[in-house]
Amino acid sequence: MDHLLHGHNYAKAAIDIAMFDALGKSLGRRVADLLGGAVVDRVPSYYAIGIETPDNAGRIAAEKRAEGYPRLQLKVGAHPPEVDIEVIRKVWEAIKGSGMRLAIDANRGWTTRDAMYISRSCADIPFVLEQPCSTNDELRQLRPLLHHPLYIDESSYDVNTVISAAGSGLVDGFGLKLTRLGGLQPMVTVRDICAARNLPHSCDDAWGGDILAAACTHLGATVRPDLLEGVWLAATYVDGHYCGERGLEVVGGYIDLPKGPGLGITPDEAIFGTPVAEF
Ligand SMILES: [Mg+2]
Repeated sequence: MDHLLHGHNYAKAAIDIAMFDALGKSLGRRVADLLGGAVVDRVPSYYAIGIETPDNAGRIAAEKRAEGYPRLQLKVGAHPPEVDIEVIRKVWEAIKGSGMRLAIDANRGWTTRDAMYISRSCADIPFVLEQPCSTNDELRQLRPLLHHPLYIDESSYDVNTVISAAGSGLVDGFGLKLTRLGGLQPMVTVRDICAARNLPHSCDDAWGGDILAAACTHLGATVRPDLLEGVWLAATYVDGHYCGERGLEVVGGYIDLPKGPGLGITPDEAIFGTPVAEF
């Protein structure tokens, strides 16, 4: 596909995932087996707290800690820096001592000025800083001035950008979206590059449905456990499923690897209705 058409990774991901599912079903093997083999039968997830007031964020963090989530991600970048700092401190108060890990994700929303200020102000709190600024030029400038490990998410949009970021030492890890990279095949390449460099990463859904949730879980089960930052699923935030009543579920902060060949799920095709186009 890459040889025939440049880019369009999201569209390619749908075909890539369908092919792995079909191959697995024809061979009677799980997709995780086709990707190198599952090393766990349930994968850790993480909970993403949206833009919230300090008190709300602290309350949600305490709830998710009690549910058993091993990791939290906190969205920042929409409030003034002073409020972001207050939100971070409230969340840290709620999870401190639990062993729960924390990522602060600005989704490109900070200036280098804000990122430096907030990292310095929270130097006593152990978190990873995910995609604080938009461009790699800003991140390169920022990196030596940070008090926290730096992860990129939106800046890693294909295998090449991951190779560059890992090879140049720009980052300490990645938030990775399976569909943004083009599906399971490129994600396996990236998984192995990250393993070679000891770089942690997630295997995230990008607001998809049950098929994408299953694909992310199969891939996540093949990642070296000490490098897996979790599998984030949109499923828990989305109403309506086409594989059973609830699709894949996050229970106590973890997701069971579906059993059965291929992706291990069976979509109810009647829900999709008549195709709008056929090729
Ligand atoms: Mg992110």
